Amino acid sequence: MSPSNSQRSDVSLTHPDRLYWPDEGVTKQGLADYYAEVWRFMAPYLVNRPLALLRLPDGIKSHQRFFQKHAWKGMNAHIEEIADPQDADGEKLLRIADFDGLVALVQSAVLEIHPWGTTTDHWEKPDMITMDLDPGEDVAWDAVTAAALDVKARLEARGLAAFVKTSGGKGLHVVTPLAPKAGWTEVKDFAHSLAESMAADAPEKYLATATKAKRGGHIYIDYLRNGRGNTAVAAYSTRARPGAPVSMPLDWRELHEVTGPAAFTLANVPQRLQIRPSDPWGDFFAAAVPLD
Ligand code: ATP
Ligand code: MN
Repeated sequence: MSPSNSQRSDVSLTHPDRLYWPDEGVTKQGLADYYAEVWRFMAPYLVNRPLALLRLPDGIKSHQRFFQKHAWKGMNAHIEEIADPQDADGEKLLRIADFDGLVALVQSAVLEIHPWGTTTDHWEKPDMITMDLDPGEDVAWDAVTAAALDVKARLEARGLAAFVKTSGGKGLHVVTPLAPKAGWTEVKDFAHSLAESMAADAPEKYLATATKAKRGGHIYIDYLRNGRGNTAVAAYSTRARPGAPVSMPLDWRELHEVTGPAAFTLANVPQRLQIRPSDPWGDFFAAAVPLD
């Protein structure tokens, strides 16, 4: 690992040896070290976005898990509380501005980070669309990668760019950068129509509704990440699942080499970034156009 690329933070970790992923031997300090390596790639998808956080104070084996959007007791000051402009009197939301904020999340056992698809500079105008591909049981991985390419083709036919990442769980996320212009309703309606058109054109492959009963053999094209207040796991975020997988941005050309949705982990990603330092999502925001 090259220290020159690593971020530093003055936020101190209590109990740095606490095990977050016990089977993998990943500690609180190990998680902070991982984020130091990926910070420069991850920051644009994290900074100044309202956050939903999955906290597991005793690690992934514990039943204590809190999915939270609001402050908790003893929260570090590098995690900022912000008012939702549409809910000015409501409970404050959370945001971080920098790497200290991320280390503060690690200190509080945040093992998954799920941002909104917009920044607080333009709350009402999303800057991305996330199409979440959820394979039912019995769906081959090849079918999931083919579905992602199908989503890409449909987005590109609309003049939009498409980027792909593993979810770190079961599937893939196809993400489109947007110049912030259209509002939430418009963006969600667009994502919905995209999912519906896929299900209409290939009903043997795709579903656009979350009817679990029919899911066997199908890929559910989940467009519901795109409403106001909805979230999707951040690029490079770890997942609170066995193996310490991460949601990994990929180059479309390497998709066929990727063995599965959890192929990238806290253990192998920093090394991969050393070997292939070019960022497959480097042009993400440069590729943004407005949704018309
Ligand atoms: P997979 O590949 O397994 O589908 P994923 O990231 O696509 O992974 P999930 O982890 O199943 O999907 O769901 C994540 C999203 O669901 C979050 O971004 C959040 O919006 C929502 N979510 C997850 N857990 C909770 C929870 N406990 N309460 C409310 N919403 C949640
Ligand atoms: Mn999913």
